Amino acid sequence: MERCIFCDIVRGRAPAARVYEDESVLAFLDLNPANPGHALVIPKEHHQTFLDLPDHLMGPLGIATRRVAAALMRATGAGGFNLMMNNYRVAGQLIAHVHFHVVPRHARDGLRHWPGHPTPSAELEKVAEKVRAALG
Ligand code: AMP
Ligand code: ZN
Repeated sequence: MERCIFCDIVRGRAPAARVYEDESVLAFLDLNPANPGHALVIPKEHHQTFLDLPDHLMGPLGIATRRVAAALMRATGAGGFNLMMNNYRVAGQLIAHVHFHVVPRHARDGLRHWPGHPTPSAELEKVAEKVRAALG
C-alpha cells in the first residue's frame, strides 16, 4: 500500500488538530477548511472508500460523526452542517482513506451546493429501473 497521510495521523506520525477519538474512529480538522471547524472523521483502519468499509465500522463511524457534528455546531455557533464524502477520484477523492467531511454552516456563508438539473419523471423512472436492477 502507498503511504497514507491519514494512517500516519492515526499513528501519531503526522500532525493534526485532533478533536475526537475512540477505539475505532478519529476526527481532526481539515487543513483547508471550507468554514472554521470543518472536520474529517475517519475509521482508524485503512479502507479506501465507503464501499470498502466493513459492516462493523459503519455504526461506529456514523455515531462518531453525529457526535462530532453536534459538537461542531455548539463550538462554532453554526446553524447547520453539511456531511459529505467523496468516493473515488472522479468524485474528487484525493485521500484514499475513507472520510466524512463535516462542514459547519452559517447563514450567507457563501458556500454553494452542487447544481441540480430538473428532469422529467419518465427519465427519472428509466434511471430508477436501472438502479433497482443493480440492487437485484
Ligand atoms: P477529499 O477530496 O475528500 O479526499 O479530501 C481530502 C481532504 O483532506 C481535503 O479537504 C484536504 O484539505 C484534507 N487534508 C489533506 N491532508 C490533510 C492533513 N494532513 N490534515 C488535515 N487535512 C488534510
Ligand atoms: Zn490510510
